[in-house]
Amino acid sequence: MIPVVALVGRPNVGKSTLFNRLTRTRDALVADFPGLTRDRKYGKAELEEHEFIVIDTGGIDGTEEGVETKMAEQSLAAIEEADVVLFMVDGRAGLTPADEGIAKHLRSREKPTFLVVNKVDGIDADSACADFWKLGVDEMFQMAAAQNRGVTALMERALAPFAESLKASEDEDGDIVELDSVEDIEKANLSEEDAEAAYKRLQEQPIKLAIIGRPNVGKSTLTNRILGEERVVVYDMPGTTRDSIYIPMERDGQEYVLIDTAGIRRRKNMHQAVEKFSVIQTLKAVEDANVVLLIIDARENISDQDLSLLGYALNAGRSLVIAVNKWDGLDNEVKERVKSELDRRLGFVDFARIHFISALHGTGVGHLYESVQEAYQSATKRISTSMLTRIMQMAQDDHQPPMVRGRRVKLKYAHAGGYNPPIVVVHGNLVNELPGSYKRYLMNYYRKSLEMMGTPIRIHFQSSE
Ligand code: GDP
Ligand code: GDP
Repeated sequence: MIPVVALVGRPNVGKSTLFNRLTRTRDALVADFPGLTRDRKYGKAELEEHEFIVIDTGGIDGTEEGVETKMAEQSLAAIEEADVVLFMVDGRAGLTPADEGIAKHLRSREKPTFLVVNKVDGIDADSACADFWKLGVDEMFQMAAAQNRGVTALMERALAPFAESLKASEDEDGDIVELDSVEDIEKANLSEEDAEAAYKRLQEQPIKLAIIGRPNVGKSTLTNRILGEERVVVYDMPGTTRDSIYIPMERDGQEYVLIDTAGIRRRKNMHQAVEKFSVIQTLKAVEDANVVLLIIDARENISDQDLSLLGYALNAGRSLVIAVNKWDGLDNEVKERVKSELDRRLGFVDFARIHFISALHGTGVGHLYESVQEAYQSATKRISTSMLTRIMQMAQDDHQPPMVRGRRVKLKYAHAGGYNPPIVVVHGNLVNELPGSYKRYLMNYYRKSLEMMGTPIRIHFQSSE
C-alpha cells in the first residue's frame, strides 16, 4: 500500500515549498470538495525508489484558542489517515507558542512524527535547532526546502519502514520470489516461455477495481447495485479498518476485488449517515487498483474535481472506464448537452470507454464489466519485442524524426518495459532530445497500431550511440 505523508505546521514554515519539491507538479489535486477546506493539497511524489502520497494540510494556526479547535476537522482527518507526519517549524523564527500547541496535539496521536526545522540556510543551524528540543521530540531534521537541502535524507529516513516491505519479496540474493506483479516478472529476466506463463497467471488474477468519484455521484448506489445483483457472488470480507474495504466477488467466471471508497459496507443501511468523503482513501484506492471506474454525475457539470481525479488516475497509469451516472429520466436535449460537454472536456482520454448508466435503476450497469475486462486485458497484454520494434519502424518510415543539433535521430528498436500501464521503451541515438511533437506522434502511432482500449500507454526513451 502506498504510504501517505502529511505536512503539518503553522503557516509560512515552508510546507508548500516542500510539497512542490516532492511532487514537482503544478497541478496538485486541490481538495475543493464539499466539506474540505480549499487550501489542502494532495500530490503524488517520487523520490529515489520511493513513491508516496503527500498532503499539505494547510496552515494550522495554533496561536488562537487551543489548537484542537483550530485544526480543522479535515486537517485532523488528514493526520489520522497519514502513515507519517512531518511536523515543520521555522528555524529562523524560532520556537513559537503555535508550534507548541501543534506539538501537544501530535503527541496525543500515535503517529510516526518527524520534526523538521526548515530554513536553516545561511544561519547557524545547530543553535537555531537547540530551542526546538523543548518540543520533546526524539529526532530532529534540518532542512532548507527552498534549496533542496536535507530533503532526501529526511525522506529516506521517514520512508524506510515502507521500503522494507517492498523488498520483502526478494530473497537474500535480491532475486524476486513472488512474481505477482508485472514489474516483478520483468525484473526476473525469465525466458520468453516462462514470462509468457507468468503473464498468463497474472491475467487470471482478480481484477482490482476502484469505483471513484466525488461525493454524491452515486458510488454507493452503484456498489450496492453491483453487490446486490443475483449473478454476483460476494465473498466474506475482512473487518473494518480506516482504509477502503476490499470486497472479493465473481461475475461470469471473472474474479474481481472491488475497492470500496464509499464506505458502503460500513453502514448498517443506506439511510445511515454517509461517511465523510476521503480524498486520501480515493487516491490510495487508485494506486492499488488495476482499473479505475470513474463516476460522473450527468446532472452536474463536469467539475474541476472530476478532472483532478481523472488526472490523478492517468498519472498513476491506471486503466480507466468512465460511467456517466443518473442517466435516467433526462430529456434528449439534456442528454445531447452532456454528451457534447464530455466530448469537449474529456477528449484527452479518448482511450477510455464511456458508459451512460443509472445506478438507481440498474440500466447499463451490466455492460460496465465488459469494458473493465477489456481495459484490464489491454493493460496487461504481453506485447513482443518484435511487434513493438516493427510498429516503431513503420512510424519512422511514415514520418522521419527531425534533425537534432544537425544530426539525424535514428530509432533502433523497442521493447516492453512494464504493464498496467504498458510501457514501451524506445532505443535510438539522441532520442531523449526528440521534440515533444514527435514523441506524441510516436505515442499516437503505438496507440492506434496496438488498438488498446481502456489503458494509457507510456513511452520511455533511451539514448544509445
Ligand atoms: P507554508 O505556508 O508553510 O506553505 O510556507 P511556504 O512554503 O509558502 O513558505 C513561506 C516562505 O518561506 C516563502 O517565502 C518561502 O520562499 C520561504 N521558504 C520556504 N523554505 C525556505 C527555506 O528553506 N529557506 C528560506 N530561506 N526560505 C524558505
Ligand atoms: P456517493 O456519495 O457517490 O456514494 O453517492 P450515493 O450513491 O450516496 O448517491 C447520491 C444520491 O444520488 C442519492 O440520493 C442517490 O439516490 C442518487 N442517485 C444515485 N444514483 C442515481 C441514479 O442513477 N439516478 C438518480 N436519479 N439518482 C441517483
